[in-house]
Amino acid sequence: MSTRENNQSRIWLSSPHMGGTELAFVNDAFESNWIAPLGPQVDGFEADLQQYLGTGDVAVVCTGTAAIHLALILLGVQPGDEVLCQSLTFSASANPVVYLGATPVFVDSERETFNMCPQFLEEALTDRIRHGKKPRAIIPVHLYGMPARMDDILEIAGRFDVPVIEDAAEALGSEIRGKKCGTFGHMGILSFNGNKIITTSGGGALVSGSRELIQKARFLASQARDDAPHYQHSQTGYNYRMSNVLAAIGRGQMQVLNERIAARRSNYICYKDYFETLTAFGFQVEFQPEPEGWFSNRWITIIQMDPQKNKGITAERVRLALEGQNIESRPVWKPMHLQPVYSGAPFYGSGISTKLFENGVCLPSGSNLTKDDFKRIFKALDSAFIKNRSGNKTMLHREDWTHDKWRDEKSDI
Ligand SMILES: *Cc1c(COP(=O)(O)O)cnc(C)c1O
Repeated sequence: MSTRENNQSRIWLSSPHMGGTELAFVNDAFESNWIAPLGPQVDGFEADLQQYLGTGDVAVVCTGTAAIHLALILLGVQPGDEVLCQSLTFSASANPVVYLGATPVFVDSERETFNMCPQFLEEALTDRIRHGKKPRAIIPVHLYGMPARMDDILEIAGRFDVPVIEDAAEALGSEIRGKKCGTFGHMGILSFNGNKIITTSGGGALVSGSRELIQKARFLASQARDDAPHYQHSQTGYNYRMSNVLAAIGRGQMQVLNERIAARRSNYICYKDYFETLTAFGFQVEFQPEPEGWFSNRWITIIQMDPQKNKGITAERVRLALEGQNIESRPVWKPMHLQPVYSGAPFYGSGISTKLFENGVCLPSGSNLTKDDFKRIFKALDSAFIKNRSGNKTMLHREDWTHDKWRDEKSDI
């Protein structure tokens, strides 16, 4: 690595991207002195999300992880219980199961969506029940924004009468046939962590079609205080509500959410165009496909690099080539059943998630990437694949992929 290369500013995988109106909402919070884990901005952010999702009630909380914890508590998960969870995910999908003394049982992915495989889900349910343990919940994940096969998962869950908690932390704005991710399950969760498609720096939400569950979540998240003038508690509470100041950021971010989705989708188009130019050189890189009727927010663009189809070039070599130019990329999530902390947890699958991990690279996907950033990224990628590509005609029409164009492209949905 030369110093000159290192002098270039770092290109991040997915960095926060403010829209401009956030500070005005934050000022409102300050001027009204609602510097508290409740207040008008919290109510407003919940209303904005509810309207955006088009159905269900929403409670905003301090993190997406807290939202999963609350969902499991609301379903009555107890020590010794089992919960089925997608293996290919971030650890936050599974950790709250352990907070409750329950055991996660991991389910493999399917090749098309990269998410929970309905066949392995059915196999896991049948086998756990045969062993005398009916799972208390199922946690599918919409990885990198791509919706899981919710039709099949809900059909199977319904047949076995097991509730579904949808981890939509990465999928705000994604849809299946016009229905938003987060609204399919008995409960859904969202995250507004700094790296997500919109952010409150840290934050999350619980979504449900049941108003009663959401009211109960708000109660539990604010220390489970009974209705009395003194502090009276008949249940264990949690301090999980979102700050009014952070909710103000969220309200500003909601105003640009659709633009953020359009920009992330255009990142994907840029990468797809770029890698298409590499097919002429005998490389074959695969993307996360978007099945008919599916709409992904393309939070992160990930590629699958089978070394056998790419002259021995590995995902790690691509990552290192980008790192050499001070560009952040990452391997795909390491499956939970391969994590030391979950060694010994039951797993149902055939190793598809392992392959997706081994061959996967998450490419820089921020909604604030510039044309110059893409030039640097493509140059670094070139160095991993082709030593001397002359007359590189890499397409760089990012500006062409405006919100309107994206809307036109997807007008059938
Ligand atoms: C980010 C994330 C979470 C956790 O959200 P936090 O707000 O960071 O607690 C859970 N699941 C998935 C899949 C995530 O990507």
